[in-house]
Amino acid sequence: MTIDKFDFDATLLTINFATRLLAMEVDPDILTDRVVETFCDLGNCQDATLMMYDEYRELKGVAASLKQRRVIINEHIPLNKAMLEAAQSLRPVVRPVCDDSIYPLPSECCETDKTCLCVPLVGSRDRVRGFVTLYRPKDQQWEVSELFQLSIVSTVAAISIENSRLFRQTIEDSLTGLYMRRYLFIRLREEVQRFKRRGGPLSAILIDVDNFKLVNDNYGHATGDVVLRAVGQIMYDCSRQGVDLPCRYGGEEFVILMPGSEKKEAEIVAERIRSACAVKEINTQEGAVNVTLSCGVASIEECEEPSAGELLKIADKRLYCAKESGRNRVVCQ
Ligand code: GH3
Ligand code: MG
Ligand code: MG
Repeated sequence: MTIDKFDFDATLLTINFATRLLAMEVDPDILTDRVVETFCDLGNCQDATLMMYDEYRELKGVAASLKQRRVIINEHIPLNKAMLEAAQSLRPVVRPVCDDSIYPLPSECCETDKTCLCVPLVGSRDRVRGFVTLYRPKDQQWEVSELFQLSIVSTVAAISIENSRLFRQTIEDSLTGLYMRRYLFIRLREEVQRFKRRGGPLSAILIDVDNFKLVNDNYGHATGDVVLRAVGQIMYDCSRQGVDLPCRYGGEEFVILMPGSEKKEAEIVAERIRSACAVKEINTQEGAVNVTLSCGVASIEECEEPSAGELLKIADKRLYCAKESGRNRVVCQ
């Protein structure tokens, strides 16, 4: 390690930029990428690994950059000496890298042509939330200013990751992983406001599982939960990521909000979901279970006074018609 000439202004500017980049992102997946990218930039290297403790306190490799290629990993990782030391001292630790075969995952120390810097991600209550390891050629020393920047940014990264996880918990339903009702209404209000100002399409599909009470009665509540999770997965798979909002509206009722989609497009998506579910054999401990769905589709142009409530009311009326006319169908008129 060398003591370099410290350009204080440049260091502050860099930290300021990195802090904004990380602290403003609430999507955990985008944030993961940004953390790896930021550490590669600040550490002036191509290869890095991000490891985080999950909710069961297991250390998982979550993402890596290998020669500027992004890699998503989902691997359990044992603590090595460098990590233990970094976790105890709460400071970055420099080590030689030994085994290139598992590189850039952290490896025990021995002599090769690369060094590894292990930075602990210290979050709230001084708890280590994970580690970032950076790799670069041995002849390229780690400067004091680099370690200084990386230490500060590691805390910002740890707290930003904690925040993004908490944010996700406030908008995601824990059983299905779909958005929660509360988030649906926040987005619906915004989309209705946008429609009132600028017009444009906005549709919603209201979906209810047919005779779901029978699933609980016949197989038990736990199996009912497995079925709901599978139904949620079908909705997730059939809607466009980042555009449509599949939500759990209540027990076995779901809404897919489709900003930018005409009713015709919503009808196609509803039909895709209905038919996918109708043929799906859901594997449970009680054997394969099959359920069908009824759907009501509505668009904002059909509302006399456009509002979130009226849009869902029209969809609900059509859902009722779908139930009345025999279930396992989509009603749009
Ligand atoms: P219909 O075709 O008319 O919709 O009949 P249904 O049996 O689906 O309708 P009903 O509303 O009577 O039943 C819904 C059931 O969903 C009742 C409730 O116990 C069950 N339910 C609600 N939330 C959950 C949940 O989180 N897990 C499980 N397993 N069951 C749930
Ligand atoms: Mg219901
Ligand atoms: Mg039902």
